[in-house]
Amino acid sequence: MNEYILSLINTLSESHSLTLEQYRTLIDARCVATAALLAEKAAAVRKSIYGNNVYVRGLIEVSNICKNDCLYCGIRRSNRNCDRYRLSKEQIMECAAEGYRLGFRTFVLQGGEDSYYTDDVLCDIVTDIKSHYPDCAVTLSMGERSRESYASLRRAGADRYLLRHETADKVHYESLHPAEMSFDNRMRCLHGLRELGYQVGCGFMVGSPNQTAETLAEDLKFIEEFKPDMCGIGPFVPHKDTPFRDHPAGTVELTCYLLSIIRLIHPPVLLPATTALGTIHPEGREMGIQSGANVVMPNLSPVSVRKKYELYDNKICTGEESAQCKDCLSARMESVGYRVVTDRGDIKK
Ligand code: SAH
Repeated sequence: MNEYILSLINTLSESHSLTLEQYRTLIDARCVATAALLAEKAAAVRKSIYGNNVYVRGLIEVSNICKNDCLYCGIRRSNRNCDRYRLSKEQIMECAAEGYRLGFRTFVLQGGEDSYYTDDVLCDIVTDIKSHYPDCAVTLSMGERSRESYASLRRAGADRYLLRHETADKVHYESLHPAEMSFDNRMRCLHGLRELGYQVGCGFMVGSPNQTAETLAEDLKFIEEFKPDMCGIGPFVPHKDTPFRDHPAGTVELTCYLLSIIRLIHPPVLLPATTALGTIHPEGREMGIQSGANVVMPNLSPVSVRKKYELYDNKICTGEESAQCKDCLSARMESVGYRVVTDRGDIKK
């Protein structure tokens, strides 16, 4: 590793900031030695804030019905081979009850942009979860909605919102989405959520088609400036029924490298080792945690629908019951020296 790269890593650790050009250089300088040094520094920073604790979020995949047609996503509206479903309020409440019993104190409701979930319907569900489980956080990941909608959901008790920015480069964004979707609107949503008092998560896929070191540098700069409470990054994984079916998946190495850099940019950020990372490598999530991540998201959806929420091919954790999924992840975390805790897991500021 040359002196200049070493100096960039030191600057990043100390000032939590680099220029766009420096981020690009650091991305291009990835090798076994730079990755190991970044991971070591990221793990130390994470440890100083969160110890060996890993937070769990119970993921409830509420619907795979979506009005959008994102080119990378398996539940895009034009995929005729997708077997569509939506959970009823009763099913969602059953998932939450099971999750609470298993020690989850955050529930993440994620789904396609399904018009069934009007503000009234979704607010009712959020209110019900919050009244049954006042010690739990409710995170929504239901895509782009109006400012008024986000405000109503916040009033109903939603604590957090995950909306990956997908890429901070407008031209790149437009190559991943159909013309009717707008980069500017996605960014407006993220800023609006922040103003409404949500803990906000952004994020992107690693290795998406047309991604370059330049676009990734823009993602890192955006994270540095936006300072999200949460940041979801995982490898792009192709889905057989999408236009990107023949595009190669992102790599574990680059995903872990970026996890380390993001930890150093924004030390307290809540950073999941994602299911996509576990999909492309059997120990992907353990490697993510060792690179600086501190969150895992076991699946709490009813087993009957899990295979249908197929954003990408070969998604893991679709066969087992929720309890098995949580036990499996707990054991995996322990195998690398961490422990899963029963806690809302808010960001430590
Ligand atoms: N409708 C919600 C939830 C989308 S699914 C929303 O718009 O936010 C959650 C995330 O899965 C997406 O933000 C995207 O980054 C990721 N995703 C979708 N397709 C993927 C694929 N083929 N490979 C990896 N990640 C994918």
